[in-house]
Order: sequence, then C-alpha cells, then structure tokens
Amino acid sequence: MSKEMNRRTFLGQVARTATAGAVVGSMDVFGKDDPSAAEPAAEWRNKQPGMTYVRLGRTGFMSSRLVFGAGGLYSRDGAERRLLEIAIERGVNYIDTGRAYANSEAAISGIAKRHRDRIWLVSKAGHIGWPDMRIKPGDDAEAARLFSDQLDESLRQLQVDTIDCYMVQGVEHDWVVTMDALYEAFLKARDAGKVRYFGLATHTNVGTVCNLAADSKRYDVVMLSVNPNSLADLAPSIKKMRQAGIGVISMKTSGPIRSDAKVYDKAYDQTFAGVNLTPYQRAYAYMLARGGIDAFNSHMPNIKILEENLAVPSLKLSRADLGRIEEQVLADSRGACRHCGACDRACPEQVGVAGLLRCHAYLHAYGDRELALTQYAATGPGAAEACANCGACQAACPESINLSAVIASLRAELA
Ligand code: SF4
Ligand code: SF4
Repeated sequence: MSKEMNRRTFLGQVARTATAGAVVGSMDVFGKDDPSAAEPAAEWRNKQPGMTYVRLGRTGFMSSRLVFGAGGLYSRDGAERRLLEIAIERGVNYIDTGRAYANSEAAISGIAKRHRDRIWLVSKAGHIGWPDMRIKPGDDAEAARLFSDQLDESLRQLQVDTIDCYMVQGVEHDWVVTMDALYEAFLKARDAGKVRYFGLATHTNVGTVCNLAADSKRYDVVMLSVNPNSLADLAPSIKKMRQAGIGVISMKTSGPIRSDAKVYDKAYDQTFAGVNLTPYQRAYAYMLARGGIDAFNSHMPNIKILEENLAVPSLKLSRADLGRIEEQVLADSRGACRHCGACDRACPEQVGVAGLLRCHAYLHAYGDRELALTQYAATGPGAAEACANCGACQAACPESINLSAVIASLRAELA
C-alpha cells in the first residue's frame, strides 16, 4: 500500500470514529486523557458566551479553544494591542508569548496585568532551542541558567508574579526534551512560586519530541506545529501525549503557505452551519474536531483575522459538514510542511532550513515583513547565506517543497 493510501486510510479511520456523534471533540478520536490519573478540578477563568473551553490535560485549566498568539504584537501600536483586549472580552483566556519574540512580553504587560485573573499566561525561554540553538549536548548547566534567567526576565517584562506555564521554545532534539537540568530548573522556579506548569514548543522533528515529552512525564502542556497534511504522521504522538495527561496546543495549524494574502477574503460557495467558511476556518475547525488538539494558537494581526478565528470554536458543524470539510481541508493543505526536520538533518552546512521556511511563510503567507525580519535575524546572522545551494534539503523533503527557491527568496528579500 502506498504512503498516500496509508495516510488517507488513517484519516478515514479518524473520520469514521469522529463522526460517531453529530459534533465531536478531540477525545472521541484520541481516547480518554490520562486514564490512570484522577481528574483535576476544573479551573475556570474568563468564561464568556460564544467561546468554547476544554480541559487542558492534567492542569485542569479550562482553556479557550482559541489561543491568542501575542508573539507578533511586539512593535505594534496601542490600536493593534487592542486586539488582545477584544479577544479577552470575547472569552479568549490563553495568551501565548515568549522571550524570543522581541519585546512582545513588554508590549502586552499592561493588558496581562490588568486581566491577570482572567487569563492563562504562557511564555517561553528561547535560545535553548529556537531561534539560535545555543545549547549543545552536555551544556546542561548553561541550559538551566538560560531557562531560569529568562523566566525571571519574563516575570519582569510581563510585570506579573507568576506565569501559568513556562515552556522551552523550539525544541527539536531528543536530549533537550530529557535534559534533567532543565526540569530541575523548572521545579526550583515552581517551588519559588514563579511558575505553575512546565511545557515545550516544537516545530521541527515534532513526532519524536512529542513522544519523548509524553514518556518523560515531565511536561504539562506541549505546543506543536501540526496541520491537516501532517496530522496522519503526528496523530499517534498527539494521542500519546493526551494519554499522558499533557495539554495539547497546535500552531501553524492551517498548514498551507499563504502565497496570496487575499486568500483571507476567499469564501467558498458551500455553507457550513449556515455560514461560509474561509479555508483557514475550515482547517481550524477540522483540527479542533479531529486533530486531537485542545486549542489552536493563532497570530492575529488585524481585526478581520481575529474575528475569523473567534468564530471557529463555537461552530456547530454537522457530521456531513465535517465530512465535506475533511475533503477540502486535505486538498487545501496538500504539500504543506510536515515539520519532520528531514531538511535540517540533510544540510551539510547546518542551515536551519525548516526555520527559514517559517520566515518565508511569515513574509509571504502572513504578509508580516516585520515578524519575518525579526525571526530571520534571530535564526543567526547569515543563516541563508551559509547555504551552498547543494539541493540536499529539497531532496530530503517528503513534500518536495522548493526549499532552494525559499532560501533564494529570503536572501533577496531579507538579507
Ligand atoms: S541547499 Fe543549502 S540549505 Fe539546502 S542542504 Fe544544501 S546547503 Fe543546506
Ligand atoms: S523536510 Fe520538508 S516537510 Fe520536513 S520539515 Fe523540512 S520542509 Fe518541512
């Protein structure tokens, strides 16, 4: 049987399981979460009509199914930061930021302080992994120092006493997931009341990282890159994490590289639950229903995208709708990056190719040059310039993404 058949067969099985009820949740497909654990008490914050909520693994936090990705708010003016307040007013209660997003933490600090009891605040320590991978195997003490120092700085920048979950950002190596020094640094910070839960975010070598996170029993929340095209690859890892009691958040959820900014305006002629859905709404709705995720994280730089995303969690899609959505979503996301990391592993020059592909997506799909420039600079000076144009990354890519063209484009547009 071909790989494509296997993928389609898997998704068909998922679909059949998922459509047993008229409207399904992730757990119907992916099994009961953490069956051995006592169910934690529900912790509610900012419950609003029009938003839906889900228990975030063993934390017990009832998370909005839309996560506000605040990493792109770092240099925006007050009017755009107002988007975050609107999201909170509409029931979003999970806010994601990080040390490596320029000054995002400082930019949202006023809102974070003002609404502290209404939101679940997540930040991340960079540089251990993404964006510049400063830590090598054996650098345990330095990794712990980076984690602890960045956590202290996050608390200062956000002007809060406690962060709900602090993540290691951009984890892509096995040895980072299982590094004792990092976990010990977290435990020390937790005992000091600085943080409540431990997490990681991963967008390369995702399946391996997630499996190890589940096995380690250390992580409370994992944010992973997953899209409809990579779901068949990653569903076993997502299931494993859920069964380990880990809250699962997706990012880069819609998958397709958005080469046409006007795609946001594109409405399809078919209606779902009585409304037209954009390709992004379809992808998010599909992943919430059948992707095993608790919530999706989205960068929302304008009111149109915010409204588009706010509408998704409460969509009441019928079984027939979900069936039609599946076909369209899989077609839309065909060829999207599967976050497997094969390109990075193939590069003789140690270029972080997958990271460059994300920069390209920020530039051309999200239309956010500022974000692309920041992320490009953060991956280390000369990342694309180090490319010897050998073609090995492209040859290794299971989706045959034209990585040479991506790198050439970044060199011309951002260098
Ligand atoms: S084409 Fe460039 S980025 Fe790709 S493998 Fe070769 S040197 Fe690395
Ligand atoms: S090899 Fe292709 S699919 Fe895998 S991470 Fe790289 S670009 Fe994405």
